[in-house]
Amino acid sequence: MNTVHILWTLSTGVYVQPHNIESLVERNATFARTMFNGNQGLRPKLSALIITCLDPRLDPVYVLGTQPGDVAVIRNVGGRVTPDVLRQLALLDAMTPSAGAQPAADPFAIVVMQHDDCGITRMGSRPEELGAYLGLSAPEIDMGSISNPPNTLSHDVSALRKWSSQFGTRYLVTGVLFDVETGLIRKASPEEDA
Ligand SMILES: [Zn+2]
Repeated sequence: MNTVHILWTLSTGVYVQPHNIESLVERNATFARTMFNGNQGLRPKLSALIITCLDPRLDPVYVLGTQPGDVAVIRNVGGRVTPDVLRQLALLDAMTPSAGAQPAADPFAIVVMQHDDCGITRMGSRPEELGAYLGLSAPEIDMGSISNPPNTLSHDVSALRKWSSQFGTRYLVTGVLFDVETGLIRKASPEEDA
């Protein structure tokens, strides 16, 4: 049987089957044959970029119902706005005009999607590694805040808005929280979504 379960079971975290690259190649052939459009431009059709966690429970393709070419996605541990993410955004901002894409009249949306029960909250005993990831020294890390999804999201949305302010109104930054039990997202509270 060529079925692949790359991911682990959601309830237990137990890895269920080894990777099977041949099955992935077959799945890709089906995708190329049935879904792929080779005439897409560089700019996402929905003029949006999603920054989210690599947790398999919140694959943005399914959570947000996107189609190929709709959005750009950056995924990392926690869906955090790390120094590396800001460097990537700067590169993306610089490369888009050179790729021939015309800046749209409407703002480009950047959506930070984080979630509850995130694995990053289990890193409290490893502040040095967490600090290196987040660009903070170990004493600067507030684990109480990191384990509180709304607080973390508010922090990252603020950081991203501060970064994007250098570009005027080019970017519109929004934060949403994904509920791992219901599958629903909700926007950050109104005061955080100013
Ligand atoms: Zn996560």
